[in-house]
Amino acid sequence: MRAVVFEKFQSAPVVTEVDRPVPGPGEVLLKVAGSGACHSDVSIYADFTADNPAGIRPPFVLGHEVSGWVEELGEGVAGVEVGSAHLVYGPIGCGRCRACSRGQDTYCENVASMDYLATGIGRDGGMAEYVTVPVRNLVPLGDADPVAAAPLSDAALTPYHAIKLALPHLAGGGRFALVIGLGGLGQIAVQILTALTGATVIATDMKPEAMERAAAAGAVTVPGGEGQVEAIREITGGQGVDAAFDFVGAGPTIRTAQASMARQGRLTVVGIAGGTAEWSFFANPYEATLTNTYWGTVEELHEVVAMYRAGQIRPDVERFSLDDALEAYRRLEEGTLTGRAVVVP
Ligand code: NAD
Ligand code: ZN
Repeated sequence: MRAVVFEKFQSAPVVTEVDRPVPGPGEVLLKVAGSGACHSDVSIYADFTADNPAGIRPPFVLGHEVSGWVEELGEGVAGVEVGSAHLVYGPIGCGRCRACSRGQDTYCENVASMDYLATGIGRDGGMAEYVTVPVRNLVPLGDADPVAAAPLSDAALTPYHAIKLALPHLAGGGRFALVIGLGGLGQIAVQILTALTGATVIATDMKPEAMERAAAAGAVTVPGGEGQVEAIREITGGQGVDAAFDFVGAGPTIRTAQASMARQGRLTVVGIAGGTAEWSFFANPYEATLTNTYWGTVEELHEVVAMYRAGQIRPDVERFSLDDALEAYRRLEEGTLTGRAVVVP
């Protein structure tokens, strides 16, 4: 079958022929419907080296944002209908530690002894015609369009997890949220904030068209550059934002978020650009929290699917064939996509 393979660090992946996988015990074989291209893939193949903090080693098939139809059941799997449509919950932990027992494979306590982190991160992923996944990682889509739903697995789940943890800061009248970086994750973050909170959502990106799309989803937009923090603070009546979400994670974006925060606010860095911030008694508003989040739980993916089916999350998708997958990554790198790139084999 055709697949997009990450073969070595600091070089582009290749589209090549690989063996069709066989589902092991407790796994299913999925015929891939769609596989989203995430900026994390770019970091993995373009920036990571052999001593990366995640312990990722090539080669493997990319694609950690996957949907598909059940094609074949592995040994011991029952109760899943062949032909039914599912999303893949990407992270795969040991399945028996405390984190995994609450559906949070992202924070598996035994990660050091695992060969991979997730479908498409260390283990073969969904940028291929077929993929195998453990049956406990399937989240049913019912009759929802699986191609349009593929971005839910990461571009929606990751902001959903970050936002859900920040909800106590956004409950009540007169609250403000800030979203920095309006790409695959950031656009959906605006939709989730609008659906789950009554907060005013302030959004920013370097690209005017990305801000236009966020404005159409209900955000107030503020361009970058000189005076940005003052403009954000002015919208909040001077108090600052109660929750900030940085989907870039570069030094300047973290500093913008930090300077825009209210007292007792919460800043979540989701983007992995690797920027740093000064964190000291006098550098921050009183009782402000700085945190980071990684992906989400399988239970939250069920909740994300419910929001999608209710029309509250509407991923903007640009479809690419498997042979055009490298073009999808090129456009993601150069920042010229208008929606999440989904590879449709
Ligand atoms: P994307 O390329 O689709 O979107 C990034 C957006 O940020 C683009 O619209 C770009 O114009 C904007 N941007 C870049 N630099 C900016 C700046 N200095 N100021 C304002 N806007 C800026 O990327 P994505 O797939 O949405 O991923 C976003 C980030 O989240 C990446 O760093 C990715 O690796 C990371 N990520 C983290 C997790 C996690 O679990 N923590 C999961 C998925 C992705
Ligand atoms: Zn575990």
